[in-house]
This record gives sequence, structure tokens and C-alpha cells, in this order.
Amino acid sequence: MAVLVTGGAGYIGSHTVADLLNHGEEVVVIDNLQQGHRQAVLDCPLYEIDIRDTDAVAEIVRRHDVESVVHFAAHSLVGESVKQPLKYYANNVGATERLLSTLVESGVNQIVFSSTAATYGEPMRVPIDEEHPTAPTNPYGETKLAIERMLRWCHAAYGLKSVSLRYFNAAGAHPDLPIGEDHDPETHLIPLVIQAALGVRENIAIFGTDYPTPDGTCIRDYIDVMDLAAAHRLALSRLRSGGAVEVFNLGIGKGFSVKEVIAAVERVAGARPQVVEASRRAGDPAILVAASGKAQSALGWNPLHDDLEGIIASAFAWHQHHPGGYRE
Ligand code: UDP
Repeated sequence: MAVLVTGGAGYIGSHTVADLLNHGEEVVVIDNLQQGHRQAVLDCPLYEIDIRDTDAVAEIVRRHDVESVVHFAAHSLVGESVKQPLKYYANNVGATERLLSTLVESGVNQIVFSSTAATYGEPMRVPIDEEHPTAPTNPYGETKLAIERMLRWCHAAYGLKSVSLRYFNAAGAHPDLPIGEDHDPETHLIPLVIQAALGVRENIAIFGTDYPTPDGTCIRDYIDVMDLAAAHRLALSRLRSGGAVEVFNLGIGKGFSVKEVIAAVERVAGARPQVVEASRRAGDPAILVAASGKAQSALGWNPLHDDLEGIIASAFAWHQHHPGGYRE
């Protein structure tokens, strides 16, 4: 019996694959490698196919006796989603519809879905729990929410069980294996600040210094990618022992400002990145912090990394040893 991981060559996907293998699971990855990296998949089969390829996916499910799926494959850039919404509807909603049809026809009835805090939109209160209203402010969050709802209807109609995991800000890298974060283009704060500290990038721009926060910069909840990976494994266990349709937040419940992140990188790197102040980025809420008590009590999830410097240290090691990411 195998776990099929879609998008397993991407950032969070590859770390989840490593964690599943480390816990004795049989894993098989499909990834179209548009954004993923072949080198990020270690020690398990990787099929370079698209999740829309119904026949190929059905054949892999049969060949590997797939029992459950962890579904990461998606486009995930907020800014791009605003400029090209149809790309996001096609690749996220449309492609997931194809995948789910294949799974239902193949008799696979357990799926863990990679969702996002972007489903909440501008928060009405923080920390954000799962009861908080969902009102996405961009097509990326909208398409992820549409998939969560599709999963709910698929449970009612076909008995497809699911866990949707709404991540806050993923960061960090595997402590032992040569895998880490490598997006093209890179848009995330922690890798950009590290690259600026390493001199790979000229500077880091702070997007807005006039937010209603103590130092005027945005506050986010940074969660270590290995803790995210563990949550996917625990979600699979939950589906195996029952489950129905559930949604969980994943964050550490602590927020750090952009300026605090820059200061923490400086301490870890022992080098000061050049900082420039820029205007706000459209659609950025001032504060996003998770309430993750539900995941902790229902899944038995215990995030091990709750200090920012520790999370940054693993990311720093990855960037220091792989300044060009996987392109070396
Ligand atoms: N940010 C920034 N400069 C950058 C990239 C990001 O100031 O070059 C800020 C961004 O405005 C947000 C925070 O850093 O407040 C985290 O952004 P990121 O893109 O990493 O994650 P997001 O919160 O969008 O998921």
C-alpha cells in the first residue's frame, strides 16, 4: 500500500515525502516539474506527469496499490493569481477535479489537502481559528477554498475522506537531507532576507512600514517545514483510523514582524543584509497568526520548532550550501 504525493518535488511536498519515508511509508510522487525539482525527491519513485493525466494517474494508483493521497500540486503565488486568475482556476480547481475523479473511479478514499491561511482573507480577529469566516482576497486563496468545498461535497457523494491543512508561513529546511526552499522567482521573506545577507541578492525590501503593529511592519506566523511535514503524516493516520472531512490550521501561534525576521537572520548569518523600505504589497493583512489548538488536540500534532532563529538556522544552512538552489 502506497501514499501518492502530488507535487512531491516542491518545497513542502519534498519535505513531507522525506518525513513519510523516514516513518516507514511506501511513497510514490507525481509532479509535472513545472515548479518542482527532480533532485528534491530522494529514495522513492518520481513520475513526471500532470495530475490531469487521468490514465497515467490511474495506472500509477493500480501499479503501487495506492491507499491515500497527499495533494500539493498547485500554483501558489498570490500576486500572480491576481494577474492571471484563470490560470489558477484551471491549474488548481480544474486539475484537482480531474485528480479527484480519477481517485473516486480508482476506489481511493483518503486525501490530505494542502490548503492555506489565504482562505481567511483579511482577519477579523487574531489568532485565527478554524471558525473564523473565510473570505479570500485573492484567486489563490479562493481556488484553495473552492477545493476544500469540493472535497466536502465529494465526501457526501462518494465517501471521499479528507483533511485540509491551512498553513500559515512555511519556512526552514530539512536538517539532514539536501532539500530546501527553491522557488523561481523567489517571493518569500525568509529566503530573500537570507540571500541578501549572503550577498546573493543586493538587498531586501520591506513592504510597508506603516502598518498598525508595534514596529510598523507586517506580522506573520512562521512554521517550520518539518513540523508541517509531520502534520501531513498525522493527518494520514487520522484518515486511516476514521475521519470524515476536517480542516486544521497549522502555525505556531506566535507572530514575528518583518523587521524581527531581518534581525533574526542577521544574528544567524552574522551578516547584515542591506534593507530598503518600500510601499505595501497589495493584499497583505497587517497580522496573521494561527490558533492551532485543534490540530494539536485532534491530530496529536506538536510543533517542535517555536523559535524563529531555529527555523531560520535550518533555512540558512540550506542557502549557504546551495546558493543557487537546485541549479548547481
Ligand atoms: N515581505 C517583505 N519583503 C519581501 C517579501 C515579503 O516585506 O521581499 C513581507 C510581506 O509583505 C509579508 C511577509 O513579508 O508581510 C511575509 O511574506 P511572504 O511572501 O514570505 O509570505 P505571505 O505572508 O505572503 O504568505
